[in-house]
Amino acid sequence: MTELLTIRGLTRDFGGFRAVDGVDLDVAQGAIHSVIGPNGAGKSTLFSLITGERRPTAGTVRFDGRDLTGLAPHAVTRAGLAKAFQTTSIFPRLTVGESVCAALAARNAQLRLLRSRTKAGIRAEAETICGALGLAEHIHRAGSALSHGDQRALEVALALATAPRLLLLDEPTAGMSPFETKRVVDQITGLARERGLTVLFSEHDLDTVFSISDEVTVMHQGRVLAHGPAAEVRANDEVMAVYLGS
Ligand code: ADP
Ligand code: MG
Repeated sequence: MTELLTIRGLTRDFGGFRAVDGVDLDVAQGAIHSVIGPNGAGKSTLFSLITGERRPTAGTVRFDGRDLTGLAPHAVTRAGLAKAFQTTSIFPRLTVGESVCAALAARNAQLRLLRSRTKAGIRAEAETICGALGLAEHIHRAGSALSHGDQRALEVALALATAPRLLLLDEPTAGMSPFETKRVVDQITGLARERGLTVLFSEHDLDTVFSISDEVTVMHQGRVLAHGPAAEVRANDEVMAVYLGS
């Protein structure tokens, strides 16, 4: 199996507090890999170290053989890694279609593809991405007018517009109803399988995690407590004890 993302000894201190403590993590090409763990385990901090939003205190992040450790977020995006942000990073006054077109145009400009792409081409690509995330019927609505679940789907659409090879999703279903959760998770996994996209996913609902993941890494107090195929991690008593104890 080819590893797309290789993390070694990744560590991050906040003052005297070690939020991420010597994490090793391998994400295989094409895998859906979940990071789980109780609140405060260090999942979001770990993701921010991978995307370059925060700098690690120690350790390395390698992506497709390249050392990305300490690079700025735009350089990490350019290397083929995208994260859907929990914050409302959508453009509230643009319509769904305009937002995705803006993200596609930005990507094309960055990759200097501008001359080879027509406006109609960009619009068609935006329609494909919106359709894949169940947003087709909302394409002419303002981002701010969408339901919470549809706004989260739009955030994923904007991340997808950068044509990543690795998509990072930090609790993309936070605040969603079970129905919306299932819809968004099904769409993301369907899309990932279809496009051969690798996904690093953090999610609090364990049933969802175990049903969609190839590999699961469990964090607790900044460290990796367990990792392996989903079925193996699910059967690990120590993992369940951490959840029941939190
Ligand atoms: P998770 O996403 O698993 O819930 P986080 O990565 O958000 O965990 O947080 C891990 C720990 O690091 C928590 O104890 C949190 O309070 C702490 N932490 C996160 N960000 C900061 C920060 N900017 N300053 C100080 N402590 C932080
Ligand atoms: Mg978090």
